[in-house]
Amino acid sequence: MGVLGLGRMGTALAGALLGAGHDVSVWNRSPHKAGPLLDRGARLAATPAEAASAGVVLSCLSTYDTQWPALEAAALSGRTLVNLTSGTPEQARDVSKWAASEGVGYVDGVIMAVPQGIGTPAAQILYSGSEPTFAAQREVLEVLGAPVFLGEDAGLAALYDLALLGMMWSTMAGYLHALALVGTEGVTPEQFEPLASAWHSAVGGFLPGIGSQVASGDYATEVSSLDINAAGLGLLVETSRAQGIGTAVPAVLRELFDRAVAAGHGSHAIASVIEEIR
Ligand code: NDP
Repeated sequence: MGVLGLGRMGTALAGALLGAGHDVSVWNRSPHKAGPLLDRGARLAATPAEAASAGVVLSCLSTYDTQWPALEAAALSGRTLVNLTSGTPEQARDVSKWAASEGVGYVDGVIMAVPQGIGTPAAQILYSGSEPTFAAQREVLEVLGAPVFLGEDAGLAALYDLALLGMMWSTMAGYLHALALVGTEGVTPEQFEPLASAWHSAVGGFLPGIGSQVASGDYATEVSSLDINAAGLGLLVETSRAQGIGTAVPAVLRELFDRAVAAGHGSHAIASVIEEIR
């Protein structure tokens, strides 16, 4: 296997492959970062093409812009590329088209884990692109984490990645707002975290119901109307202001919920907000 990119993630990927007994050839712009991997038996490639001579290449650079020169220098024709650099669906599709024109077997992947999780089943890695290429590499990809194949459109993995990360960032921003709010009365993160974690799990339980309402387009509710939730958001914005903290996080949600109410969804469930988002 060849690995292009030895940042935090590339180093973890190469380390997992070495740990599973694979022969690994590594290339990085700054070669000194390869030191610990060389101690574990990796070979240092002087160029991307030297790393690619292994036949199967994992690429994990910071962005597509930084990755293109390495891919073009890697002489990948007739070889396999697993692209684990984060990007947009369009960027993944562009590499897929380029790979097809160069005769490269191509799979795009996104890593739903931190480097410390690589090599464990908890590290979910989502793939899309050529199914035969994925099937041929499945065994080695299982070394990195739990692989999930999404489909032949190479852009799908990046689409799922951004959708899931969007959920993570919204949750984290909501938590930070909550910590700032209770912090105005001296409540510490240690005191608040157990309640927040329990609440976070309870909220996770709402996801299947929201999903079925979105799928059916039936937003009738016996639980809690959008009107009530929009009013609650108003209280949160007002209280945040009164306690002297910023309102950026709840204000954006309030604006969205208010628009959905104005569009006639006040008596519907929260799931109806998707109509405004769309
Ligand atoms: P790092 O910042 O640790 O490493 C970046 C890598 O890109 C290094 O190999 C660096 O080389 C290389 N690089 C940056 N600029 C250039 C350039 N101009 N030319 C050549 N090489 C360049 O990032 P990570 O390893 O954390 O992330 C890598 C990818 O993995 C990203 O797309 C990220 O989104 C994705 N990812 C990361 C996760 C994480 O938790 N870290 C989680 C999921 C995905 P050099 O060493 O020479 O600077």
